[in-house]
Amino acid sequence: MYKLTGVSKTYSNGKKRVDALQGVDLTIDDGQLVAIQGPTGGGKSTLLQMLGALDRPTAGSVLLGDQDLARASAARLTKLRASEVGIVFQGFNLIPTLTAQENVEAALVPLGIRKAQRRERAAAALASVGLADRAAHRPAELSGGQQQRVAIARALVKNPKVLLADEPTGNLDEETRDEIVALLEGLWRDQGLTLVIVTHDSQVASRAQRRLQLTRGALREAGPGKNAATRPA
Ligand code: ADP
Ligand code: ADP
Repeated sequence: MYKLTGVSKTYSNGKKRVDALQGVDLTIDDGQLVAIQGPTGGGKSTLLQMLGALDRPTAGSVLLGDQDLARASAARLTKLRASEVGIVFQGFNLIPTLTAQENVEAALVPLGIRKAQRRERAAAALASVGLADRAAHRPAELSGGQQQRVAIARALVKNPKVLLADEPTGNLDEETRDEIVALLEGLWRDQGLTLVIVTHDSQVASRAQRRLQLTRGALREAGPGKNAATRPA
């Protein structure tokens, strides 16, 4: 699925330079469930941005299948984001004026899918996250956990090969966190997705097959998680 070789990312703000990633090598197999842990500022969001085609590295290559995201054009990256990777953020990033159904449908507009099919696929995606009965609600009318479910449905409705989650439980209480982790785990197990979760929460990371630790831009293996032996569908 992914093969990263010698990936470095340096941010420059005027004279100040930050080496957010330093020579990261990483292979993620098709269908793997990976957690990336590490302290604030360790480079987790930056690494996720590389995997999600949101930004390019300063050096190195980021292969997604046979495409190098480090060298792809901006137009190509936009296309990949629209179709091949789903991303979920800590802050949900839903459009407040749209209903849950409309938020999910919106992800299909760039793919040129027609209205009737958008409607059908969005309804199915909302059902797959247990929110069929909340489709007509706007984000402000939903709990934090429900909003995150909508965001997950919006990421999955494209049928991406990979789902990337950046601190997906960061804004949630413990009980809701456990619900969202169980949902993600179930989707991974049943749909054969590749799932990468960035988290500073060791409880969340413990559910992965494989754990990685990112500290000051350097990546290392941190051992198996509870799902190490699970073979998804
Ligand atoms: P984490 O997600 O582990 O908290 P980040 O990837 O957000 O880490 O940040 C890694 C380092 O890069 C930090 O020092 C952060 O301040 C810096 N950084 C992240 N994004 C930018 C940016 N757009 N411009 C400048 N510095 C950044
Ligand atoms: P997270 O909570 O997911 O780790 P951060 O708070 O680290 O996110 O970063 C949020 C966004 O701000 C990211 O897109 C990151 O690239 C950007 N960012 C982080 N640190 C800096 C910085 N020092 N300067 C500019 N942008 C930054």
